[in-house]
Amino acid sequence: KGSIVVVSTGMTLGAHMTPRCRSYIEHADIVIGSNPPLVEQWLESINPNYQSLQGLYAKGKHRADTYREMVDTMMAAVREGKNVVGAFYGHAGVFAWAPHRVVKEARKEGYEAHMEAGVSAEDCLYADMGIDPGRVGSQHFETTQLMKYQRQIDPTAYLILWQVGLAGDTTVKRFSTGEAYRQVLVDLLSEHYPLEHQVAIYECPFTALDDMRIEWMALKNLPSAHVSLISTLVVPPSQKMVKNQTVLDKLAELDLQQE
Ligand code: SAH
Repeated sequence: KGSIVVVSTGMTLGAHMTPRCRSYIEHADIVIGSNPPLVEQWLESINPNYQSLQGLYAKGKHRADTYREMVDTMMAAVREGKNVVGAFYGHAGVFAWAPHRVVKEARKEGYEAHMEAGVSAEDCLYADMGIDPGRVGSQHFETTQLMKYQRQIDPTAYLILWQVGLAGDTTVKRFSTGEAYRQVLVDLLSEHYPLEHQVAIYECPFTALDDMRIEWMALKNLPSAHVSLISTLVVPPSQKMVKNQTVLDKLAELDLQQE
C-alpha cells in the first residue's frame, strides 16, 4: 500500500536536514521534489530514484496548474503503491501549496501521509539578522496577497514579506514583476511607514558557495533594488507599541482582588 511523507530539505545544502527527513529520503521507493539545483543533485546522491518537479514551472503557465501537476505526480506514485517522499526546500509547509495539498489528498484516499518540519527562510532570517519574532511580534504575508486585499498592517511589529520578487503579479504566471509593480507596493507601505524607513532584502545561502545577502535601503528605493525569486523583504517596526490602558486597568483591578 502506498504512502507519502513530505520532508523539508532546509535552506542550506547539507546543513539543515533533520536526521528523520534524511532517513525517509534514504528509504523511499521514490523521492519527488522541488529544490534548488545543487540540492537536487545531493538528494539524487542519497536516493538515485529522485524525480525533479522543477520542469513543471514555465513562463506564462499559471502557477496553480504547476502546483496541481506536482500533487498529481506525487499522488500517481502513491496510488501505484510506492512509499513516496515529497522533498521540498526550506520548510515544506511554509509558503507552499502542493506539500500541504498532497498530504490532504492522500489521507482522503486512505493512504498514510504526513509532513516533517524543517528549517525555513524565516528561521535563517531570525538567526542571520538577529531578529527575535517574539520581541515585538512579526507579521508575515505573501507580498501580492498583501497588495490585493485589505489587510491590517501593524507598524509596531516586524513585517516580513515573502515573494517580493513577484510583487503585484496578479496573473500568477510570471517569474518576476518589476520596478513599477514594486512602486505600487511602496505606495501601499508608505501609508504605514515613512519613505525613509530602512528596510532590508534578505537572501540566505543555498550552498556554502553562495553569499548571504542583507541589503538595507530606504523604503523609497525598493523599486530600483535588485530582487529575485529568493528575496524576502524585512520591514522593521517604525512605531512604538502603545499601552492598552483598558486591559491594564482590568488587570490592576484583578491584582487588587487577589491580594
Ligand atoms: N518553503 C520555503 C519558502 C518557499 S516560498 C521556506 O520554507 O522558506 C518562496 C519564498 O521564500 C521566496 O519568494 C522568498 O520570500 C523566500 N525564500 C526562498 N528562498 C530564500 C532564500 N534563500 N533567502 C531568503 N528568502 C528565501
